[in-house]
Amino acid sequence: MLWIILVALGSALAYAFLVWLPRRRLDKALQAPFPSDWMLYLQRSPVYKVLPSSLQLELQQKIKHFLHTKRFVGCDGLQVSDEMRVTIAAEACLLILNRPSTQFRKLRWIYIFPSQFRSKQAQRNEYGVVSKPAGSLLGVSWSNGRIVLAWDSVQRGVSSADDGSNVVLHEFAHQLDQEDGSADGAPLLYDRASYKQWSEVLGREFNALREALERGEQTLINPYGATNPAEFFAVITELFFERPAQFHDTHPELFNTLLAYYRIDPQNWQPSESSIST
Ligand SMILES: [Zn+2]
Repeated sequence: MLWIILVALGSALAYAFLVWLPRRRLDKALQAPFPSDWMLYLQRSPVYKVLPSSLQLELQQKIKHFLHTKRFVGCDGLQVSDEMRVTIAAEACLLILNRPSTQFRKLRWIYIFPSQFRSKQAQRNEYGVVSKPAGSLLGVSWSNGRIVLAWDSVQRGVSSADDGSNVVLHEFAHQLDQEDGSADGAPLLYDRASYKQWSEVLGREFNALREALERGEQTLINPYGATNPAEFFAVITELFFERPAQFHDTHPELFNTLLAYYRIDPQNWQPSESSIST
């Protein structure tokens, strides 16, 4: 009899510490007001300024969830600040607005270097890596719950919101791609028909990009996207959020396939009159 009571007590304690308490802490974090100092950092983001107010509010909630569940580590002497945490969280959570998501369920750790860094591991694996010559990296996404970012590159990507280049969007698109266990350019989609369309459209456009590059043609899509299907998805995600009008005009079918996945249309994001300065 005693051992039954002990097992029941142990199960109850395990549930309390592993499930109930973390859930209660998360609920409390989500119910708390968005901190005013975080808002100052958020309002520096050119993208945040042009989001519809409903998406701004949703983004604040996603940021609170993100910062409650992910851990940041500074590398090479970098001290991680709230500005870094909020800036990275805001860009990452653009990818999961207005749709069901797992909040980057697998991701636990975000490592930040002051600037580009080297990784012997990364050089052996072409998936999930933004690289410069000689193995210098701006960002890496691993399927075992880690992302590595160069802070100066993050800042460049955030401040130039319309150049189609953003290392945070790129690496977190890799995280979405890796959620199903393979970095193959196809994230978790909503139904079987979506997978069929995704495969047809992205496969065709990926081959078209490779052929265009072989002919020496200039393309809107960064040539790095021709590396493999995983890089293709990450690169067109950057375009979708940062140059949506040009992307839609030149690759309408590809744009609409991403639109069906992300369920938000950055073409509609315009500055409100109050935010326009003359
Ligand atoms: Zn990549």
